This record gives sequence, C-alpha cells and structure tokens, in this order.
Amino acid sequence: MTFENLNIIEPICLALKDKGYTVPSPIQEKSIPFILEGKDVFGCAQTGTGKTASFAVPILQMFHANQLIKKTFGIKALVLAPTRELAIQIGESFSDYGKNLNIKHTVIFGGVSQFHQVKALDRGVDIVIATPGRLIDLMNQGIIKLHAVNFFVLDEVDRMLDMGFIRDIQRIITKLPFKRQTIFFSATVPPEIKKLADSLLNNPVSVQVAAISAPAETVKQSVYYVEKQDKKDMLKFVLEKENINHALVFTRTKHGADKLVKDLVKAGITAEAIHGNKSQNARQRALECFKNRTIRLLVATDIASRGIDVDKLTHVINYELPEVAETYIHRIGRTGRAGAGGMAISFCASDEKAYFKDILKLLGKNMDVMEGPVFGNSRKLDLDSSSRRTPRVPRTSNNNPKKRFSTRKRT
Ligand code: AMP
Repeated sequence: MTFENLNIIEPICLALKDKGYTVPSPIQEKSIPFILEGKDVFGCAQTGTGKTASFAVPILQMFHANQLIKKTFGIKALVLAPTRELAIQIGESFSDYGKNLNIKHTVIFGGVSQFHQVKALDRGVDIVIATPGRLIDLMNQGIIKLHAVNFFVLDEVDRMLDMGFIRDIQRIITKLPFKRQTIFFSATVPPEIKKLADSLLNNPVSVQVAAISAPAETVKQSVYYVEKQDKKDMLKFVLEKENINHALVFTRTKHGADKLVKDLVKAGITAEAIHGNKSQNARQRALECFKNRTIRLLVATDIASRGIDVDKLTHVINYELPEVAETYIHRIGRTGRAGAGGMAISFCASDEKAYFKDILKLLGKNMDVMEGPVFGNSRKLDLDSSSRRTPRVPRTSNNNPKKRFSTRKRT
C-alpha cells in the first residue's frame, strides 16, 4: 500500500516522501479513504501511530480539490488539541504535509500574548489548530467565528476530558454549523468518551489500530523497585548501565521536575524541565534543546507528555509513576513511535505500589523487574509484600552504588 494507492494527490505525496513516509501507517490506511469520502470518523489509536497525518492529509487534500471551500470567507477547518505542545506539533505537521499547497493555517494557544495569533487570523486562514481555552477566549472577544467550519477534528479527546475541557468543548460545539464533517480521536474509550462521540458524530465509521489502552508493542518495559530518596542515584546508575544519551524523564509534580533538574545539573548531567509553570517560550526552548540534543534529559510532568514528539526517542524513564494508569500508556507512547523500538524504564517506590499494580492490570501482563544497586536509604521493595519491612542497609563500600552494581534480572 502506498499513499498514491490511497488517491493522495501528488503535491502531498511529494511532501510525505520528503518527511520519509514511504507507506501509510495502519491508522492512515484505515481512516484516510473514509475521510476523503466525507464520512465522520471515530478513531481509537494509541499515541505515535501516525494519527495526525490520518486527518491532516485528507483535510489538506479536500481543501485543494475544492477551490470553492477556499473562496468562502472564514475558518473552514478547526482542530482541537489538549495541550499547546500538541497544537504546535499538529501545526508543524500541516506545514510539512501541505508545503506544496497554498492553504493557510495557524495555531492558537494560551500562555502567550494573543497579539500574533490575532494578526494571523486577520490575514485570513483556512485551518485553525487550537487549544480549547484560548479559542473560547478569542470567541468571547468576537475575534474568531466558527460559522464556516466544514471540518471539525477533536484530537486526544480522552486527554481533553482529563484536563477538564468538557464544558469548553460543549460551548465550542454549539457555535459550529450543524452540517459538518467530524473526526474524533482518542487513545482510550471510557464510557464518557463514547457518550460524547455518540452526541457529536453522525453515523461514524470506527477505525481502531490497537487494542484499547494497549501501549506500542515495540516498547520494552521494565521496573526498578527503589525508594524515593534513592531514585536520583538510581537514575544515574540506569543512565550509565543502559548507556542512555537521550531520554524523556517523567515526574508527577512541577516542583519534583525542577528539583530533579537541579540535582542532575549539579551532577554534571545536562537537563531541562518542561511543565505548566514554565512560560511558553521556556517550554519551547527546552523542547528544542532536547530535540537537537543540546541536553541529555528532558524532565516533564504529564501535562507536557502528550504533545512531545521527538524523532527516534529511545528511552522514557518514569522517575515517578503516574497516579492514573492510562497516563503511563501515554507517557511511554513517546518512544517506540511509528514502529521504531523503544525502552520504558520505571522507578517504583513503596508508596507507589498501588499505582504500579493498576498499571500492570491495565497492561494485562507483568514487566521485567530489574535489580539495581542497594542504596543506603533503601530497603528492598517487593510488590507482593508491601507490609514486610527489612532493616535499612547502611551505605558501606560494599553497597555503595558507585562501587557495587548488581544488574541481575529477576523474572
Ligand atoms: P503521530 O501519531 O501523528 O504523532 O505520529 C507519530 C510519528 O510517526 C511522527 O514522528 C510522525 O512524523 C511519524 N509518522 C507518521 N506517519 C508516518 C508514516 N506513514 N511513515 C513514517 N513515519 C510516520
């Protein structure tokens, strides 16, 4: 199967070739024909499957084919995404795939001045990619009108609901024309997502490329049981042992991310934090430094986890486990993208065992438990004996992580 077989026009095929896409990914193969036919689509696809192109390519093609649409005044396609990073990346994908076409798009998100976004809208755009908050803000100011929207895409809907955007989404929907094509993507489909999809979609075609809540099969997953105080040393150990030059590291809190970065930098490891308290410019700068490999580690909170797409990211480290098991899937979806191999390494402390059990339940399988060094503060952790206490091991030359590594694998 090729993009030509899917009847994709030459200017787009050429742009896709430049991106190195030789064959469509399964989600692209399944959804593009239906979207081109004008059908509503309900897509269930995990992160990293190529779902952006599965809606961006047919939208660009439909614009190109139908000059009339272009001549109507107003925004003709609206893509809603949960985070600024994801919105920016979708915008970049539209630029890449549409580089041989003359279709204008812009990205709208909060956390920065609206000045340039309003200017871009004033110049006239066909496609808007937006996060819900800023979009509502501009709608309230009368700057954006949605009466001409023919195509409406909701991306990563489960994440949008997690982030509390349901009311915003409902408000936005009331401003859209009734007659439109709607494309709805979610990585997971809990009942509230199903309900929302039913209320929005008109006789949709369902496309699914992986079992619901399944992580990419190409990601190798493992866990180290390690106490909170020892995680910093364990991270240094793992970086060395696995020869990791580039990894995305997850913490649960913004404060935790900042503190870890401080400790890493002190230890001579280049790292930057990316989270919601950082200005948009600082976030973009950190992401750029990570993408161009100026820094070794990017330490992120979950809010940033969904939008980050780094080519050939080999390692994701869950420094702290997420409270919600589904978030684990989203985190590790940053690696192993589009069929490439990846490794997800998690650290589980005694107070995170419940989270870990939930993750195993969701995965429906066990993961390799790795044995690292025994640190001064740690007692050995065992998932099945959470109440058993073993005495603290004082740090001696025998168990000092710098001196003694035990890397046996327990199964
Ligand atoms: P997405 O799920 O849209 O975020 O895409 C995940 C990654 O796969 C991105 O780095 C895309 O550039 C890449 N990708 C998407 N479609 C293809 C394709 N057909 N062939 C190769 N890579 C792709």
